[in-house]
Amino acid sequence: MAGENRHSNRVPLDPNSIKTTTLVSFVVFALLLISFLWTLMSFFINTYYEAARTQEVIRTAAAIETQYREDAGLFDEFALQTAGTNGIYIRLDSSQGSYAYDGTSGIRDSDTFDIDIERISKKLSESGLDSVTETRFGASSDSDARLVYAAHIDFYGEVDTLYIIAPLYPDKVTIRIVKNMLLYISFIVLTIALLLAYALSRRIALPIESLTKAATELSKGNYNVKFDGSAFTETKELARALNKASYEMEKTDFYQREIIANVSHDLKTPLTMIRSYAEKIIDISGDNPEKRNSDLQIIISETERLNRLVTDMMSVSNLQSNNVELHKETFDIVQAAQEVYESFMVLSSSEGFDIHFHPCRPTYVVGDRSRIMQVMTNFVSNAVKYSGENKYIDIQVSRSSKKVAFHCVDHGMGIPSDEIAHVWDKYYRTSANHERDIEGTGLGLAIVKGILTLHNAKYGVESEEGKGSDFWFEMDTVRKPSQSGGSSGKES
Ligand code: ADP
Repeated sequence: MAGENRHSNRVPLDPNSIKTTTLVSFVVFALLLISFLWTLMSFFINTYYEAARTQEVIRTAAAIETQYREDAGLFDEFALQTAGTNGIYIRLDSSQGSYAYDGTSGIRDSDTFDIDIERISKKLSESGLDSVTETRFGASSDSDARLVYAAHIDFYGEVDTLYIIAPLYPDKVTIRIVKNMLLYISFIVLTIALLLAYALSRRIALPIESLTKAATELSKGNYNVKFDGSAFTETKELARALNKASYEMEKTDFYQREIIANVSHDLKTPLTMIRSYAEKIIDISGDNPEKRNSDLQIIISETERLNRLVTDMMSVSNLQSNNVELHKETFDIVQAAQEVYESFMVLSSSEGFDIHFHPCRPTYVVGDRSRIMQVMTNFVSNAVKYSGENKYIDIQVSRSSKKVAFHCVDHGMGIPSDEIAHVWDKYYRTSANHERDIEGTGLGLAIVKGILTLHNAKYGVESEEGKGSDFWFEMDTVRKPSQSGGSSGKES
C-alpha cells in the first residue's frame, strides 16, 4: 500500500514545464560555453601563442639592444637574466667573440640552435634588412617549433649581430596545467548553471504554482481564496486580474442565488393564493354567487400580479440584453409628468396621500414617451410604497440651461447609506423593506436604470434613512417641434 502511494506521488518530468525548460536552457548554455573554451584551447592556442611570442621576442630584442649600447659592462648579467625569465636563447656575435645566454637548456637538446643561427644569419645578410624572423619546426612534433630572430646592432661603428631563439609552443607541462584549469572551470560553470537554473525556475514557477492552486480552489466555489503573484510584475498583474474575476464571480453567484430565492418566493405567493381560492370556490363558495365572485376577483388580481411579475422579469432581461426597441419622439416632458401625477391623484383622496406637482413651462425632450412615463410612474409608486406615516410627496419638473430634471421626493423611510448604490440592481430590496414585508419584486429600479441608460440620461437618488428619498433623472432639452412634425433640434 505504502509502495503504491509512493509510486502515485512521483511526478514525471514534464518536458514543457518552466523548471525543465529553464534547466535545459542553462545546461545547454553552459555546455556551449565550455565547448567554445575547449575549441579555443585545442585549435587556436598555438596560433595565439605564436603571435604573442613573436611580439615578445621583438620587444626583448629591443631591450637587449638598448642595454648593449648603453651599458655593455652590465650586458652579461642582463642577457642571462632575460634569457632565464623568458625561456629563450640569446646569442651576440661581435668582433670580440660570440656570447651565448641559454634560458632553454632545460627543455631542449643542445646544438639544435647552431643550425638555426647559421640559416638565419644567411637570411639576414641576403635580405639587406636590419632584422629578420623565421619560424622553424622540428622533425618530430610541434613542441620543437621555435621562432628565430636575427638583427644587426650598430655598436660604435662596428656591426654586431644579435640572435634570439624562442620555443614557439607551450611545453607539455604548461598545456597540461591549462587543460586541468579548463576542466575545473568547466565543472564550476556547469555547477553554477545548474544552481542558477534551479533557483530561477523555482522563483518563476512558485508564484504560478500558487496561482494555479488558488484557481483550483476557486473552481470548487471557494471565493475566500486570495491570489498572490509575488516576485514578478507579470504574475502580480495576473493575480490582480484573478482576484477581480473571483470577486465578480462571487457577486454573480450571490445575485443568482438571491434571484432564484426572490423569484420563487414571488411566484409562489400568488400561486398559493390562486390555488387556495380555487379550492375554496369548489368546496364552499361555489353555490353562493356573491362569495364566489369575490373569491374569483382575488384569483384574477393574483393572476394580474403574476402577469406583472413575469412582464417585469422579461423587461429587465430584454433591457439587459439590449433587446429593446425605443419609439423615440419629441414630446413635452412636463405634460407627461402631469399625466403620471394625475394617475396617482386618486390615491390622494382614497388613502390619504398628499401628492404635489411642481411643473415648469412646457419643455421638450427626445425619447420613448411611454417608457419615460414608466420611469416616472415607478419613482412615484415607490414613493407611495415607502412613504410610511408621512404621506407627503413632491413631484417636480425643473429646467436649467439645456437640461430638464424630474424629481420625486418623499419623506418616508429613506435608504441606508451603504445600500443606496444597490437599489438599481435587479432583485435588490433594502433590509428595512424586508423587515416591513412591503410587497415588491426589486425589479422596478432595474427597469428604470435600463430605460434611462438607453436614453443616455443621468439619474440618481439622494436619500437619508428615516428622512426620505429624492429619486431623479435628467434629460437634454430640444426645441419645440414645429406643427408640421419636425422633431429634435436646439433648445426652445
Ligand atoms: P421593489 O419592487 O422592491 O419596490 P424597486 O426596484 O422599485 O423594487 O426598488 C428596489 C428597492 O429600493 C426597494 O425594494 C426599496 O428597498 C428601495 N426603494 C426604492 N424606492 C424607495 C423609496 N422611495 N424610499 C425608500 N426605499 C426605496
